Formats: sequence, C-alpha cells, structure tokens
Amino acid sequence: MSDDIWKEALEQFNKAAKVLKLDKSIVEILTNPKRIIHVSIPVRMDNGKIKVFQGFRVQFNDLRGPTKGGIRYHPNVSHEEVKALAFWMTWKNTVVDVPFGGGKGGVICNPKELSEGELERLSRGYIEAMHKFIGPEKDIPAPDVYTNPQVMAWMMDEYHRIEGHNVFGVITGKPLELGGSEGRDKATAQGGVYILEEALDTFKVKNASIAIQGFGNAGRTAAKLLSEKDYKIVAVSDSKTAIHNPKGLDIEKVIAHKQKTGSVKGFKEVKEITNENLLILDVDVLIPAALEGVITKDNVNKIKAKVILELANGPVSAEARATLYKKGQISIPDILANSGGVAVSYFEWVQNNIGYFWSEEEVLKKLKDKMCSAFDNVYSASKEFKVDFGTAAYIYAVRRMIKVLELRGYIKKGD
Ligand code: NAD
Repeated sequence: MSDDIWKEALEQFNKAAKVLKLDKSIVEILTNPKRIIHVSIPVRMDNGKIKVFQGFRVQFNDLRGPTKGGIRYHPNVSHEEVKALAFWMTWKNTVVDVPFGGGKGGVICNPKELSEGELERLSRGYIEAMHKFIGPEKDIPAPDVYTNPQVMAWMMDEYHRIEGHNVFGVITGKPLELGGSEGRDKATAQGGVYILEEALDTFKVKNASIAIQGFGNAGRTAAKLLSEKDYKIVAVSDSKTAIHNPKGLDIEKVIAHKQKTGSVKGFKEVKEITNENLLILDVDVLIPAALEGVITKDNVNKIKAKVILELANGPVSAEARATLYKKGQISIPDILANSGGVAVSYFEWVQNNIGYFWSEEEVLKKLKDKMCSAFDNVYSASKEFKVDFGTAAYIYAVRRMIKVLELRGYIKKGD
C-alpha cells in the first residue's frame, strides 16, 4: 500500500504540473523531500527486556514555514508512506493557507499490543531521538492514526525535560490543560462542514441527503454537526456494516448505540447494507471518512452523489476525481476538505506563541473564514483551468509555492 500511496500522491500533483506546464527543475524541487530522519527507538518493555522500534520523520518542504504534520503509530508505517503523507501535508498547508511546510512522522508498532507504560516510553523515546530536529520554528508534530492528546502530552513533556523549560508550541493536538486549543477535537469535521455548505450553496443543492462512510472521529463528528443543522443523514457505516434508512437516521441515537455496543450494527429500523453499497446510494452528498482508495476507476461510474466531501485522506483517486468532474459531479479533495484539523493546529500554535487563549466561538469563526476562503480559491482555479477540484487545489497550491520559489531565488520569474 505504501508504494501506491506515494504514486497516488504524485499522480494528482503531476496532473496539476501538466496543466501549469511546470519546468522539470521545479518538479524536481517540489517532489523531493528536504530531510528524511530514520531512528531506532529502544524501549524497555513491561517484561524488563529492551525492544527496538523504528521511527521516521519526513520534513518534506519548509519553504513556506516550519514543517508540520502528525505522527502515526501503525504496523504498516514505512518511510515511503510517511514521505507521501508529508508531501500531502505540504499542499494541504498551502491550500488552507497556514504558514507551514509539510512534514509527517511515524513509528512501526501496534499500539493495541502495548501497555500504557510501554506507549508512554515509546512516545518519550521518539522525542528523545527527534528533539534536535523539531521545535516551534523547525517542525511541529501533531496526532495522526492511533496517536492522541495524551501521546502529545507525553511528547511535549519529554521535550520539556530535555530542554529544561516548557515549549508548548513544539506540538499541537495537546489536551486543553496543557496548551491545547478549544475546538481542536471537532476541527476536521467542522472544517469539512463549512466547506460542504459552501459547495451546496455554490452548486445549488437544496435539502441534501447525506451518506457517511466511517463513524470515528471524523465521520461521527461530521454526522453529529450535520444532523444538528437538520441535514438528512440516510446512511452511516463502520468497519462492521453500513446502516441505511431513506427517511433519515436519528444520529444521537446511532452514536449512543455505537457507544453501547461498539458498532452501528444492530441499530433498529434500518436496512443493513455493505460499505461498498453505501458508496453508490442515490444521495446528494457522500462523505468518505474512513479509508483511502474507496472510489477508484473500478466503481466511479456507479457513484450517484452530486458532491463528495473527502474527509478521509486519499479516499478518491486522481483519475476518479477527473471522471466525476466529467460527469458533472464534484469531489472536494482531502487537502481541502479535511484541512480544518491543521487550521486549528495552527491556531493552537499561535495561541501557544502569544500565551493568550481564545474561546471556542473565536476559534470556530477563524476556522470558518479560513475554510471559506480556501474553498473560493480552489473553486476559482477550477473555473479558470476547467479542471476538477483535486487538480484545481494542487494548481492553486503549486502556484503559491512557485511565487515562494521566485522570492527565495530558487527560480527566476517565468521559469
Ligand atoms: P477513526 O479511527 O476515529 O475512525 C475510523 C472509522 O472508520 C471507524 O468508525 C471505523 O469503524 C471505520 N472503518 C474502518 N475500516 C472500515 C471499513 N473497511 N469500512 C468502513 N468503515 C471502516 O479515524 P478518524 O480520525 O475518523 O479518521 C478517518 C479518516 O479521516 C482517515 O483517513 C484520517 O486520515 C482522516 N483524517 C482524520 C482527521 C482527524 O482529525 N480525525 C484529520 C484529517 C484526516
């Protein structure tokens, strides 16, 4: 999968590069990571023995600011995967206009098999190995798959131990008590909802019916926020099953059922369908919020939704985005749709730097402004170049990066 993810990341970039007729040297600058750090992390396990874990940090591009991106704990982590995710972060941070470059980290491990103490020692070991390379003006990690505010708190504390003083801005996604930001927990979903509302307004879709794949942090929170705004959510799913009711689901009750039983399976007055069939329901809006690679050339012609909001990372291939566009459907790419998380991470970093904290209301207002202007910029590029939103997002971001390359003296105007 990790090779595919890098190929997929390049494919969407290359589409934009072709439209912009980018010089080979610019492509070379933009597609090679600045720094790849690979460390061995010795951790004392509960049985008293040392186990050595492999950790990575890729600082892909820091031309617009310190690199920024999450740290993933997963058995499938590899340096190729982390490289692709860091490349993605470069463009996401540019599209949503936060003053960061792109970075990402990962540790090959199965956190489900680690005790809390082992997880803490691994997280502290990662920072011990990486502390020279990170910092509020160098590279700022955050949570990703299987890392959370508690892991960020241990990491921040380890950095404190090494430096001898608190440096809250070294990491984002921290608990509120340790310099975290209001609104961070729902930022990804809330940012996606702001984008979706702009899209529905722009493409004049009224009384939208919605299907959501994935009922975790991103999907469940989006379902909750959308149902609070009276959208009709007709289907949701998790790894076990998908549930469908054309009349609409009571999302509060589905959340309670999932909390009680661990799954949406068994919820009353619905039809259970497969996750594949959820994707092809006759709905106005489809929100893939679970996995990568769920809409590809193999099923794109069966997709009926008018608007697809890519809350997951990489759920729709570049080729499928282009096909949808030709059929008059719009897929809002991940680097725009789920950029609310990193936008609020930026607000957290700013609040840490100034030592003054905003209310949730202030944070969400700033988030809405950022998301709406990112949507407008991508939509304008889509109209100007007559391309799908995925290609348009990359065109917009690459053009901004070219301006930076000119100003820094890497290239001359018109190269
Ligand atoms: P999560 O682990 O909280 O939830 C994942 C959900 O997907 C769960 O409900 C799980 O049951 C479901 N799922 C797993 N396998 C599935 C399958 N085969 N079919 C259908 N559903 C399946 O994760 P999350 O934080 O919600 O992240 C989901 C996606 O959103 C990922 O691609 C992630 O990278 C992306 N994302 C999340 C955030 C964030 O802030 N949470 C930010 C940016 C991007």
